[in-house]
Amino acid sequence: MKKLIKGGRVVSMDAAIGDFVRGDVLIEDDRIVAVAAHIEADADEVHDATDMIVLPGLVNAHLHTWQTGLRSIGAGWTGPDYHRLMHGNMGTRFNAEDNYVATLVGALEQLNGGVTTLFDWCHNLTSLEMAERSVDGLEESGIRAVFGHGTAKPLAADGDLPFTHRPHARERLEALRKGRFASDDRRVTLAAAILGPQFSTPEVTEHDFRMARDLGLLSSSHAARRPQDRVSAKGYFIPAERGLLDHSHNVVHGNYLTDEELKLVVESGASITVTSLIELHVHPADPVTGRVSALGGLPSLGVDSIPAANSDLFTEMRVAMLFQRALEHRANYRKGNGPLETLPVRSREALEWITIGGARALGLEHLIGSLTPGKKADIILIGMKALNLFPVHDPVHTVVQQANAFNVDTVFVNGDLIKRNGSLLFDANTLRKRQAELEISAARIIRESGYQLAAA
Ligand SMILES: [Zn+2]
Repeated sequence: MKKLIKGGRVVSMDAAIGDFVRGDVLIEDDRIVAVAAHIEADADEVHDATDMIVLPGLVNAHLHTWQTGLRSIGAGWTGPDYHRLMHGNMGTRFNAEDNYVATLVGALEQLNGGVTTLFDWCHNLTSLEMAERSVDGLEESGIRAVFGHGTAKPLAADGDLPFTHRPHARERLEALRKGRFASDDRRVTLAAAILGPQFSTPEVTEHDFRMARDLGLLSSSHAARRPQDRVSAKGYFIPAERGLLDHSHNVVHGNYLTDEELKLVVESGASITVTSLIELHVHPADPVTGRVSALGGLPSLGVDSIPAANSDLFTEMRVAMLFQRALEHRANYRKGNGPLETLPVRSREALEWITIGGARALGLEHLIGSLTPGKKADIILIGMKALNLFPVHDPVHTVVQQANAFNVDTVFVNGDLIKRNGSLLFDANTLRKRQAELEISAARIIRESGYQLAAA
């Protein structure tokens, strides 16, 4: 099956391919086979991309999709509120069906916003069934995803071993690996969403890193704790000293890491995912995009927490870029210098964070992140005539400064059409039904938690 995307403003995000003021992209089955100014091909389908920006699908490298039904409930919470109310209470009240419906609706929202690959960091799991149903939600949506199997973080009841002292549920990962994830050649793949050194003891940290390595899985850990609050003071030096820290690990946040520890992480080949919206919301330490770039790393971005922050990846990209610019302007000003001669963070760099940067963080750079022949056909089209985008002088500036989810006209994942003419092709009746189920699920969870909505 050949599909030809014809006559679009192509931004390939591959320096060897370049961009085209008017260009074509040829898809054969699930792959991109050609990107050029003009392609003659006998295509089964031709998609007219006149007045459209053609981009690689976006990569959201960090989202707790299970929280979709609790959207904005925690917009007034502090960090400790979030841990107490979400992990200590509401998160413990989810069953497998709650996870399924939240994950499905959340994944569809991401697709609608141009995200074709999602790292679903699912950390409220207490059973294999919950994990399986979460994956069902991802698969049903049509999104490409890395499913991060994570464990719940309840407040320890008296006499219970706290979550910080519990090794990851290896048996569940093994069951998934033997089951639907026996092959990595599928749209949804498996990762280990582990506690990491800031949230677990050195023994648990070592166990979890080793487990992921034994099972051939990407692992990922949160790192947003102040030094005095960390469980393991030696941090990422623990896996590094044991030869366990490399490109197969992803560190989320990293705000409070010292220069020495951040250097260790970046130079090991591990990736860093910044989630500025939530980091600026609750943390006094700065997002690290600039520090990662200065070390030669390529940041990736995620939207993290729907209960507490905005879930639109375009917004995250803009905030991450602007915050880094603000930091550099202010640092320069404090030195008594005149205005900077070049603007910190080019637009194209910010766009890299949500395309090729995300692809690299997820270990999928060979498959996604740019419009490169041989890669998977994950492609989005953005309409240039929308009032908030028109007129377009430079498509990269336009996307980075102006675009939002509703400007995404067309989405292909794996060569399959997911969104067209601004509408998801997912069955509308089923979506309405699932949304109704999600409302009921969220209302029950909030009621059982005893949480009273506070004044905004
Ligand atoms: Zn997170």
